[in-house]
Amino acid sequence: MKRFVVAMVKHETNTFSPVPTPLAAFGRYAGGAGKPGPAYGAAAIAAYRGTATPAGAYIDLAERAGAELAFPIAANATPGGCPEDALIEHAAQCIVEELRKGCDALFLDLHGGMATPGYDDPEGELLARIRKAAPGLPIAVAFDFHTNLSQLTIDNATVITAYRTYPHVDMYQTGERAGRTLMRALAGEIEPRLLWHSLPILSHLNRQTPSRQPMKDIMDRAIAAEAAGTVLNASVLGCFPLADIPFVGMHGIVVVDARRDRGEGQRLLHELMSMAWQRRADFVFEVEPVERSIAHARSLGEGPVLLADHGDVAGSGGSTDVMAVLAEALRQKLTDMCVGPIWDPAAVATMIAAGVGARVELALGGRTDAPAIGLVGAPLPLAGTVRRITDGRFTVTAPMSTGTSQHLGRCAVLDIGQGNEIVISSERHEPFDTGCFTHAGIDPARKRFILIKSRQHFRAGFEPIIRHVVMVSGPGITTSDYSQYPWKRVRRPIYPLDPDTPSNLPALP
Ligand SMILES: [Zn+2]
Repeated sequence: MKRFVVAMVKHETNTFSPVPTPLAAFGRYAGGAGKPGPAYGAAAIAAYRGTATPAGAYIDLAERAGAELAFPIAANATPGGCPEDALIEHAAQCIVEELRKGCDALFLDLHGGMATPGYDDPEGELLARIRKAAPGLPIAVAFDFHTNLSQLTIDNATVITAYRTYPHVDMYQTGERAGRTLMRALAGEIEPRLLWHSLPILSHLNRQTPSRQPMKDIMDRAIAAEAAGTVLNASVLGCFPLADIPFVGMHGIVVVDARRDRGEGQRLLHELMSMAWQRRADFVFEVEPVERSIAHARSLGEGPVLLADHGDVAGSGGSTDVMAVLAEALRQKLTDMCVGPIWDPAAVATMIAAGVGARVELALGGRTDAPAIGLVGAPLPLAGTVRRITDGRFTVTAPMSTGTSQHLGRCAVLDIGQGNEIVISSERHEPFDTGCFTHAGIDPARKRFILIKSRQHFRAGFEPIIRHVVMVSGPGITTSDYSQYPWKRVRRPIYPLDPDTPSNLPALP
């Protein structure tokens, strides 16, 4: 009987974010209230079995193969500022201890966009430690689409795949793709070899999605090559641009069979990267003033009109308590609007103390300063009625992270009149599933306006119920105006910060 080890270490680090990411934050989807920190062993398996995640795919794969399954650690935190180096040391220790009990193959569910004070490529460091403890061990890695990586990662993995969608609705399939290739290697059918390239492009988060151009053609080409069997796996990674580290950039990763490849992998990689380079100007996004976006939303006909404030997104490290966009929406007298979740545990506590039905006056949000961009927190004074108190728990039904348990901490709904209702949460959360509203008794499909803090992931759960989307470039530490970030350590030159950046693509042999 074979013994497979599955492990998860996930964080997307916005190096400019003031939101701390301690070890206790790594229980997203698993621990929840009262059980902070990563899940271990049986608790990790219980949290991810049957979920649309790479870990969910790995669990299925191990069970189908009749292998013994060990899941030493599931560490997953909402994006924010740098985790401590100790997170990587702890995860490496948990995994290596498990490997010492015997292991035929290791399946990793990593984000790839982490940065810590001591490691610019913490996933590479983790893999290097594992490789040192277990030389020759077959290791499959499933990465997010927003991965920044270095040679250290490539040198210490056997197979790598990455999500091909944004919103990430193919997490399970990404785990399956990596797992399938590793299983073929285990069976002695193939000998995987990794090829990769990193382009000096700081692609904008709002311009990366493979569902639209300029990325669509590039990703379609990678998908077709993998489907045709030209290569074992092909992935294009958009990068996570809000990271001031040397390893940021658009990446291509191709897995070939070293016994059969006659240069097809290198040619495919070159083709994918050339396409991205030629289209680099299309990966740039121009911001629009908030007032104009809100006025545009107001002018649209029948709702729901979804306003996506992408300057303060939890899913990219935002504090989700910047109130500027809501303030402007109220100034322009938008009505029949659901808003949230706004992160303000103190306001939730005040509302719980007041009780359902009570009138309250609050200075909502604005508790977080973002010194990196000179932003000072500004609460929004509001008066309203406490409509509902919830435990902030729901299970995702949207096609992204389907089946995972969400824990927003205690939540409260503030009704400020004119049909405007605000969900206030104790934990930060990017709304990609309507559950953040419906669990609190609000049906967003019946609202004229839905004001949320998201840039792309909302499409997974909200697209079926909305008529219009208006992108709003609000202020915050996920601002879409990249000139606001104080870049110091990012690789230079990089496009578009350096418009004349030359291509680093080598000539084909
Ligand atoms: Zn991502």
